[in-house]
Amino acid sequence: THDPKRRVLKDVFGFDDFRPGQASVMEALLAGRHVLAVMPTGAGKSLCYQVPALVKGGLTIVVSPLVALMQDQVAALRLAGVAADTINSSIDRDANVAAWRRVASGQTRLLYLAPERLMTERMLDALARLDVSLIAIDEAHCISQWGPAFRREYEDLSQLRGIFPDVPIIAVTATADETTRADIETRLFGGRVETQVLGFDRPNIKLAIEPKQDSKRQLLNFIERHQGRSGIVYCLSRKKTEEMAAFLERNGVTALAYHAGMSKEARDANQNAFMTLSGVVMVATIAFGMGIDKPDVAYVFHTDLPGSLEAYYQEIGRAGRDGRAAEAHMLYGLGDIRMRRMFIDDEDAAVEHKRRSHGRLDTLIGYCETAECRREVLLGYFGEEATPCGNCDNCLEQAPRADGTAEAGIILAA
Ligand code: ADP
Ligand code: MG
Ligand code: ZN
Repeated sequence: THDPKRRVLKDVFGFDDFRPGQASVMEALLAGRHVLAVMPTGAGKSLCYQVPALVKGGLTIVVSPLVALMQDQVAALRLAGVAADTINSSIDRDANVAAWRRVASGQTRLLYLAPERLMTERMLDALARLDVSLIAIDEAHCISQWGPAFRREYEDLSQLRGIFPDVPIIAVTATADETTRADIETRLFGGRVETQVLGFDRPNIKLAIEPKQDSKRQLLNFIERHQGRSGIVYCLSRKKTEEMAAFLERNGVTALAYHAGMSKEARDANQNAFMTLSGVVMVATIAFGMGIDKPDVAYVFHTDLPGSLEAYYQEIGRAGRDGRAAEAHMLYGLGDIRMRRMFIDDEDAAVEHKRRSHGRLDTLIGYCETAECRREVLLGYFGEEATPCGNCDNCLEQAPRADGTAEAGIILAA
């Protein structure tokens, strides 16, 4: 192949194809533009700067918030034969000196630094004398006060574009919240950046919303259509998870509860059962799910309105990781909206914060009430364009009604 980035992908990392979004992010970066890449967790954001780093040569500076993350990445790169280094407080002085020698002599391709270490005068002066070809900022949402993980040290990074005016900067994050994104665009790039949002679609998950009437009955009916499959049911309260799990058990469904009010032993036991057995229904609060990677979860059922469209997206994303058909099913009632509004109003928070929270709730309600393709609305929120998906309740209801000939054919043939 004559495409140098594809060559690096194959020869260094051993992959045959780019994941959605990777190639276009790399192209923008290699063309010398600043890029903000918003892609979900696991989408492969690291390669978006690692491959261009190797294509361009010279030194790439990678800013990462956690020492553990830096060390993982450096170790992985070295395994692939790439000269990567980190200078940080957790390794001893000699090792840091040796790393700096490799950087200064031009051997190092990627140098991982915490923001507070990069943004010292000494480090910046020293780096300015080297051939810096690229700057990558991982977990870029840490710069936003509105984001979920604000880090004061990230604020100084806004000086980078002034200090290295000729070096393309790439920021990557999985946080697609619009306010956070706009914040990154202004702070890091002064608005002069190409933002690319990609890879959020999970086409195998069918999206559906049903008016909430009798949630227990509705849940049981749904689960009966998925007998023997593993699923996650999210409830708003701890008490409700236990009630629902007991109700399902009485109706012959293997169901377990999970919430933060249970003892650690009980929680671990239930999580273990869910992970190792098949056909267990986990009835949980949002305390359940972080880091859960079970490939064969057939559905995520929300008995109550989630906290935001972002939270909903995270939660339904636990279904269908094996690529098989899966369902995200939500019960939606007016009582839930009132409850959520009350939660926000009762919060001990600044007015501005409450205003934003109500705005997020409005977005979620918009998703619930839309008559358009739900996937289009969901992906649109993340900034990704889509066309009617054919795999949500709204698309399926609008599809021309089958005239029954196909079914008749099957029945007659049987
Ligand atoms: P993110 O930072 O977006 O959460 P990572 O960069 O850590 O994701 O990548 C997640 C995993 O995907 C890694 O194991 C990585 O090697 C793998 N990966 C990334 N790009 C590709 C690709 N094009 N083909 C195959 N695997 C890939
Ligand atoms: Mg990452
Ligand atoms: Zn649709």
